Amino acid sequence: MKKYITLKKDFNVKLNSKITKHSNPKYIYLPIPKEDKIHSSIEVKKEEKLSDFLISPVSGKIVGMKYCQMPNGNVEKCLTILNDYKESMMERKAVRKNIAKISKEEMLNELKDYHLEHIAFKIEKNDPNGPLILNGIEDEPYVANEIFVGKEYTSLILETFDAIREILSCQIARIIVKSSDRENIEAYTNLLGTYPNIELVIVPDYYLLGEETYIKEYLHLPDSSIMLRPSEVYQMNNTMKRKRHTLDQIFTISGDGIENPQVIEAKIGSAVIDIIKEHIKKKKDQKTVCYINGLMKGQIMDPETLIVTPDLTSILFMKETNLQEEECINCGKCYTVCPKGCNPRAFLETKKTKTIKNCIDCGLCSYICPSFINLRQRMKGDQNE
Ligand code: SF4
Ligand code: SF4
Repeated sequence: MKKYITLKKDFNVKLNSKITKHSNPKYIYLPIPKEDKIHSSIEVKKEEKLSDFLISPVSGKIVGMKYCQMPNGNVEKCLTILNDYKESMMERKAVRKNIAKISKEEMLNELKDYHLEHIAFKIEKNDPNGPLILNGIEDEPYVANEIFVGKEYTSLILETFDAIREILSCQIARIIVKSSDRENIEAYTNLLGTYPNIELVIVPDYYLLGEETYIKEYLHLPDSSIMLRPSEVYQMNNTMKRKRHTLDQIFTISGDGIENPQVIEAKIGSAVIDIIKEHIKKKKDQKTVCYINGLMKGQIMDPETLIVTPDLTSILFMKETNLQEEECINCGKCYTVCPKGCNPRAFLETKKTKTIKNCIDCGLCSYICPSFINLRQRMKGDQNE
């Protein structure tokens, strides 16, 4: 990437200082993957395997099916579970005292058994000896999931990250945070004395450094570095130490259209509309637009039938503006800013996909356009036609 950009933010939008827990939803909706067969009875326990892919986050009763919206915009058929609030669990396995003592194979097998194949894959495809990196950066404006996981679970994250380092025989591990993330800098600095093999690296507040490719390029890290996120290390702790599935998802509800932005931890399968009704206060007489999964990379969506899934990262209620798209003034900013050398303006004129063939959907071209042209959305729309 040639140029680094700091995105503008409204500093009046402030998050509550703690993660809000939403742990007792009345209903849970779990999307049923194609070809997946439910092999459970009507009564289900918390953490029961309902099919090859589905784990119940609550105990209760299967009461039917319902179509719900996913964060990617797809509508899928979901199994509906009525929560009995008894939290009846499947048989508990003993907590492992020292996770650093397990072998790499054991760790990878456990990650796969607990549906964390994507993390096992990251570790397997890279150099087993590291360097090992914990990337705690959030790129999207107003979103703070990784930042909150870091500051709320600092000790757990450090203990688990250091154990992973030992299991993988990495000499040095690094934690990366942005210079604007003062709370995590303080939290990690206070505890790092106990972890001589972990270094803290502070980087400027540039967009895209949360992405693996760009942070590697910015810090000149080898391609083979193993890059984890705080939320992934938290999930690995669940698996390796507590031998449990991760049944909750952490995401941000924020924006300048609400009074009380906050980071939420909710059961996977919860209805987003119930979470909004219970925890969020909209600004009076303020029309808003709802963005799912970020202003830069997400999409506008009505959250009415949206459910919490492992890929939900944010719900942003932004004030509706009257900014009208204007004629392109041929300023060249969209292709100058593009980190992948694409030419969105040329694509709009010619529809030739080679002009945007390396597009990573980062949204910078739309962000920078002085004529308010939503280039990213137009490119996606035209490509899908
Ligand atoms: S969305 Fe695509 S075309 Fe636009 S700046 Fe990002 S990579 Fe370039
Ligand atoms: S940034 Fe906007 S106005 Fe400038 S060339 Fe690109 S599309 Fe045209």
